[in-house]
Amino acid sequence: MKKDRNGAQSPFVMAGPCAVESEEQLFQTAQVVKEAGGQYLRGGAFKPRTSPHSFQGLREKGLEMLGQAHRFFGLQVVTEVMDPRDVELVARYAQVLQIGSRNMQNFSLLKEVGRSGYPVLLKRGLAATAQEWLDAAEYIRVEGNERIMLCERGIRTFSDFTRNTLDLSVVPYLKQRCPYPVVVDPSHATGDRTLVIPMARAAVAAGCDGLMLEIHPDPAHALCDGDQSLNLEEFRDFMIEMGEDEERR
Ligand code: PEP
Ligand code: MN
Repeated sequence: MKKDRNGAQSPFVMAGPCAVESEEQLFQTAQVVKEAGGQYLRGGAFKPRTSPHSFQGLREKGLEMLGQAHRFFGLQVVTEVMDPRDVELVARYAQVLQIGSRNMQNFSLLKEVGRSGYPVLLKRGLAATAQEWLDAAEYIRVEGNERIMLCERGIRTFSDFTRNTLDLSVVPYLKQRCPYPVVVDPSHATGDRTLVIPMARAAVAAGCDGLMLEIHPDPAHALCDGDQSLNLEEFRDFMIEMGEDEERR
């Protein structure tokens, strides 16, 4: 990565489907992430769905597919762990443990991923203040694990035209107050694929260290979060755009 005059560089990219659905879906996606220059493959095997009737994920089978994709493409896998009892299992297949928004204050889970020593992607709670989020990170750190990334994924506000409201000023705010890389997820923040790329650009301008993007080979038929998923072509184009921006700097 090249540095510009101010020391800024293109953010790292975590991309993949909301949920691992099949080997074909995951590998097709992973190949594009790799070719486009992404560093991390995301994909949920344990899905925290609002309704118990929605697809809950492929669980261990999904983890195995992520493990295969890691070995085949050399991408780092980031996937969610929802239960302290599953931390060891998920860590067998993933390089980064994701704590989802709904679990940001699940203190036994935070302690367990802290003790694991694995890198943790801590997503901001649906209605968490910045301080509550930093306190949650502190639960991981006091277990001796400082390999923490914070992920802004939108918060609940009165604004109702997006799924959540992307709180971009938290990016420079956190950069001033903690040593952790800050990742922005414009997919869950907006819930609308037409808004994802503009907000990803804005996140880069705000100084984020990483981006998390949901992408899918066939968003219209995705089992989870299709409305906010970029197709593989849109993702590829965005990665080319980011590469060109870096070259111009
Ligand atoms: C996800 O990344 O798939 C997810 C469920 O995100 P969040 O916890 O931010 O809703
Ligand atoms: Mn999702």
